[in-house]
Amino acid sequence: MRVLVIGRGGREHAIVWALSKSPKISKLFCAPGNGGIAGLAECVPITELQFDEISTFAKEQAIDLVMVAPDDPLAAGLVDHLESKGIEAFGPRANAAIIEGSKVFMKELLKKYSIPTAAYESFDSYEPALAYLRSQTAPIVIKADGLAAGKGVTVAQTMEEAEAALKDIMVDQVFGKSGASVVIEEFLTGQEMSLLAFVDGSTVRLMVPSQDHKPVFDNDKGPNTGGMGTYSPLPHINESIVQEALKNIVQPTADAMVAEGRPFKGVLYAGLILTPNGVKTIEFNARFGDPETQVILPRLKTDLLDIFLAINNGTLAEQPIEWSEDAAVCVIVASPGYPAAYPKGLPITGLDQVQDSLVFHAGTAIEDGQIVTNGGRVLGITGIGKDIIEARQKAYADLDRIHFDGKHYRTDIAMKALK
Ligand code: ATP
Repeated sequence: MRVLVIGRGGREHAIVWALSKSPKISKLFCAPGNGGIAGLAECVPITELQFDEISTFAKEQAIDLVMVAPDDPLAAGLVDHLESKGIEAFGPRANAAIIEGSKVFMKELLKKYSIPTAAYESFDSYEPALAYLRSQTAPIVIKADGLAAGKGVTVAQTMEEAEAALKDIMVDQVFGKSGASVVIEEFLTGQEMSLLAFVDGSTVRLMVPSQDHKPVFDNDKGPNTGGMGTYSPLPHINESIVQEALKNIVQPTADAMVAEGRPFKGVLYAGLILTPNGVKTIEFNARFGDPETQVILPRLKTDLLDIFLAINNGTLAEQPIEWSEDAAVCVIVASPGYPAAYPKGLPITGLDQVQDSLVFHAGTAIEDGQIVTNGGRVLGITGIGKDIIEARQKAYADLDRIHFDGKHYRTDIAMKALK
């Protein structure tokens, strides 16, 4: 088969890496891809929202399957567009991707079907939102409704911070129309867990659980990022909690989407928090997580293409899916300054010295034959071992072998599992 993956980050590198092992794939393309993906797939200079260019390319190249990885093209209807041109695509249609694209939609769905989530109110104008906010106490969480590249959420420790976030979203419109509505949400405490699932309408097959590290500095200090590292499995989180989340959250959500006439087909990502009152939903994403994918797919023993095709054919329930017992730890190496402004084009050396780990490129490019930095999160180094300790050691040892000016990373990825 001829397969085209849409996207350009570490997640897409992990997906392309997993697909590249499939004996059924004769040719892999990635649009637009990055400096690392270029070693496994032919990168095509078409970007994620160039729908006409993508479908024209898919036709010209006789592509059998287009796998849409990122949130923006899913929310904007790339799968619908491709289907309308008679091209097979993997990922939810826009009417299902809305579970990520609108937090107001997601919260209303969960409320309607009594699926556990933080208490909230939503607003589409500033004055009533402000009046409600002033009736609450900090800490409190303010969320722009739409996609905001992971930056639309403020966990406000003070009312001043909360009011500033609300003003940014609704008055100053820093997220454009993504901030036309807001969700004001109860602050929850507990460990977070990312539970991704393959979903084919009402069949839900959980992937192995993982945990992200959002804040930029050790001990969860500093501003939130796209994610500074992940690990899987979560030895300190009981399997009964995972089963509770499946029964009370993930399966009922898939069923709710079917009941609403929006069957979800693709990868459904539940961002969960393990509160003293049980597991609650923080968010849903309509796609693989980044950097969760960089620890999940290395543990997948089954051909990923077979799973994608089973979802598209409605045969996910019968599809064997096997996971390895290994542990995986992914440490993100970021550009100096990230998540604020950062330089690009810094030469990266030492990639050829890496011994045991998988190196997934997130923000890299090739300039005159040299791999250089080209984004905030630059690389994800995934160590694999018999347990978290060994996987961590391998990831950090290989990270030390890679250099670029001002590289920074967290030194405590996966430590929560070892405490
Ligand atoms: P992502 O980049 O993961 O898609 P997002 O913009 O969709 O992020 P959320 O996942 O909803 O945002 O929130 C980002 C982070 O903020 C969460 O991982 C969590 O740490 C924190 N958070 C969100 N909602 C709450 C809440 N109700 N209580 C406590 N923390 C929260």
